[in-house]
Amino acid sequence: MLNSEETVKALNVMGEVFPNATTSLTKTDPFHFMLSVILSAQATDKAVNLVTPALFERYKTPVDLANASLPEVESYIKTLGLYRNKARFLVKCSQELLERFNGVVPKTRKELMSLTGVGRKTADVVLAECFGIPAFAVDTHVSRVAKRLAIVPPESDVLTIEKILMRKVPKDLWIKGHHRMIFWGRYQCMARNPKCETCPLLDICQEGQIRVMR
Ligand code: SF4
Repeated sequence: MLNSEETVKALNVMGEVFPNATTSLTKTDPFHFMLSVILSAQATDKAVNLVTPALFERYKTPVDLANASLPEVESYIKTLGLYRNKARFLVKCSQELLERFNGVVPKTRKELMSLTGVGRKTADVVLAECFGIPAFAVDTHVSRVAKRLAIVPPESDVLTIEKILMRKVPKDLWIKGHHRMIFWGRYQCMARNPKCETCPLLDICQEGQIRVMR
């Protein structure tokens, strides 16, 4: 496994290659951003960004969406996977937000995760992007890159990966580290055909893999 120092070194190399790594979802107010993150499950950020301007123009506040008809909400997001479920999540989440949080997006993971449609990853992304609260959200890219670089054991589940990353990486690098690993997974270390021949982390990656096999 890579130790803490080597992990930080790898994240810094990623930062040199992708100095502008940040969220690809359009940044809006916390309410709408949280909805964007819910919509991004099983969909690309690009696809989400295409539907959200009209959706958010129609439903400007939690009250608007809490009282919306499901078929109408569906009509705005039907290009996204699982759109029926997601429409239900958006309406229910808005209702709960009004009932329990006065229509204001809460700032703790526990409260966020109590809302329909909000899992741990979504909560972490909202905390980091909307409130600057350090969190290390683990998506498919973060998970793959962490395993390939042997930052985490190959059989690790999402929660284990998050805990190991939070242990090995200083808190002030969690948000940036999350973005860097996503860009790395998207453009360098793709699921299929990673660009290992041109990878500036090849040595670290091979060393990590060798240690895993020992
Ligand atoms: Fe990914 Fe290959 Fe680079 Fe390792 S060497 S981080 S597998 S692209």
